[in-house]
Amino acid sequence: MASETKSVLTGGCQCGAVRFAVSGAPAKISICHCRMCQKASGAPFASFADIEHADFAWTRGTPAAFKSSSIAMRDFCAACGTPLSYRLIDGPRIEIMTGAFDRPDRIVPTRQYGTESRLGWVVGIANLPSQTTMQNYGPEKLGTIVSHQHPDHD
Ligand SMILES: [Zn+2]
Ligand SMILES: [Zn+2]
Repeated sequence: MASETKSVLTGGCQCGAVRFAVSGAPAKISICHCRMCQKASGAPFASFADIEHADFAWTRGTPAAFKSSSIAMRDFCAACGTPLSYRLIDGPRIEIMTGAFDRPDRIVPTRQYGTESRLGWVVGIANLPSQTTMQNYGPEKLGTIVSHQHPDHD
């Protein structure tokens, strides 16, 4: 309905120099295990929400970009290094890395790509011994740490 207020999803890099807003539902949310996404994210796999360019805006700062292939760019914060997005050059959408959203719990992937490079242990992580950050550091040590991470809101 045209009168309905569009929900806005926001996010940004770790330092807060780059922020973005999304005004439409992602067309697709997926994980990519491909070797290029492993390198670009510095992680075992990457996860992306595909957003139409018309529904997306950088609202603070401008990311730097690396042309990772002849067809694609990957945007990142030049100040803190956070990987932010993947986009086909002149494509209709931008794919935002889901960990960069302020509420990543709302961005749930529904399919996987690049599985030729999927690391064998990934499917078993739910069975690894687990601790919260508080359990890992303890309250005394955790209380002395000053975060320089931008908060999960504008
Ligand atoms: Zn940053
Ligand atoms: Zn990939």
